Amino acid sequence: MTIHQNLIAGEWVGADGVENINPSNTGDVVGTYARASVEDTKAAIAAAKAAFPAWSRSGILERHAILRKAADEILARKDELGRLLSREEGKTLAEGIGETVRAGQIFDFFAGECLRLAGEVLPSVRPNIGVEITREPVGVVGIITPWNFPIAIPAWKIAPALCYGNTVVFKPAELVPGCSWAIVDILVRAGLPKGVLNLVMGKGSVVGQTMLDSPDVNAITFTGSTGTGKRVAVASVEHNRKYQLEMGGKNPFVVLDDADLGVAVEAAVNSAFFSTGQRCTASSRVIVTEGIHDRFVAAVGERLKSVVVDDALKAGTHIGPVVDETQLKQDTDYIEIGQKEGAKLAFGGDLLKRDTPGFYLAPALFTEATNDMRISREEIFGPVAAVIRVKDYEEALAIANDTPFGLSSGIATTSLKHATHFKRNAEAGMVMVNLPTAGVDFHVPFGGRKGSSFGSREQGKYANEFYTTVKTAYTLA
Ligand code: NDP
Repeated sequence: MTIHQNLIAGEWVGADGVENINPSNTGDVVGTYARASVEDTKAAIAAAKAAFPAWSRSGILERHAILRKAADEILARKDELGRLLSREEGKTLAEGIGETVRAGQIFDFFAGECLRLAGEVLPSVRPNIGVEITREPVGVVGIITPWNFPIAIPAWKIAPALCYGNTVVFKPAELVPGCSWAIVDILVRAGLPKGVLNLVMGKGSVVGQTMLDSPDVNAITFTGSTGTGKRVAVASVEHNRKYQLEMGGKNPFVVLDDADLGVAVEAAVNSAFFSTGQRCTASSRVIVTEGIHDRFVAAVGERLKSVVVDDALKAGTHIGPVVDETQLKQDTDYIEIGQKEGAKLAFGGDLLKRDTPGFYLAPALFTEATNDMRISREEIFGPVAAVIRVKDYEEALAIANDTPFGLSSGIATTSLKHATHFKRNAEAGMVMVNLPTAGVDFHVPFGGRKGSSFGSREQGKYANEFYTTVKTAYTLA
């Protein structure tokens, strides 16, 4: 049995591990992956600390070449890695390949950013003095990632961390270590010096917690649940370290009377159910004005008839399984809660049997929901959405913003006035007009407001805010 080991100080280590299970077929073991201990994690942090002085001063061409090489290999292996992703996480093969391509593009983007590092030279307010403003790497960056984007999220954290000269201790979600192991292997073979990138797979309560508790981790970037995000925040304040959090969402998708019905239905179904609804940018609150409400609900019901839920790797599957049993229970619990609260389960919500044993759930759509129900306030993170009927645009906007979260917000309308007003007034980090709430570009900022995010934005050139620290130097001429 091959064990995919952890990478600590440039050595692959770890003698025993846990099985990575395919949620489309629980009899299929994707691979066995090592579990790091507290000591392993401490060794990884020490290795990253030791590697920092040299890497932080490495030439930009060296960093560019490594990231470029990694990008090329990820893109060349997109079908194989996309398949691995779909097998371990359960999103469809098309989605798995698409996410892998995105990871390659992210490495490519940051390979370019290495060559665009810049500062500013300003005159001083005092005579004969020059001022230089430069950006320096932060130090050892701890990266903690969730299971729902097993290759893109690691890519959008690792690539900028390395690009700007930081060293890394990387802990992927225990549920999906396969893609993380693969990209670390690619980066090492691309020429990363020992200790610059360390992989510590294993339990959040052990590995992640050790990272949180270490005074030698200078910054932590985290994506996952609100509860764990708060732990990261508290521990980081304690250690006076930089931190960045991407957490939950309860993203609204507004449909106005003047919407193009086809556009609205496609965007709503995609937002709520594609990738099994397991996206922080998924929409689980569909807010619909009364003039279009009944036609919209009927059209969504019609559209759902042609949606195939099956094995992620099967041709023709539109929606794969839920990621595991725990998440499936969370989804079905919320379906029960919604019914008890008085919402009407209009479509789906039942467990499905397929050729292979997996966690299959028919996309569930509630109607007659109100915004104070738990299904409208708490992140479910599955293929479960609720339609809230409203009078007009003003009420729709008020309800869209009435949430503790603020990641993404969408609207379907043909009115320029409403689209413009919504873009300005939606309390979210990302706003989509006639597009699904999920599905973003890799070269522009990603992130939210309120309870969804904390710290500076991820992705694109805005990533340098988190992965660098600013220095201001004064020189007497
Ligand atoms: P978690 O927040 O528990 O997991 C995210 C990452 O944090 C994982 O790598 C996890 O490790 C790690 N972690 C867990 N505990 C600690 C700790 N004490 N210290 C440091 N790191 C830790 O989310 P889950 O995966 O359990 O998902 C639960 C819910 O969170 C979902 O149902 C969904 O509502 C939400 N979620 C939101 C995401 C988003 O993108 N907004 C993404 C994923 C989940 P380990 O793998 O061992 O658990």
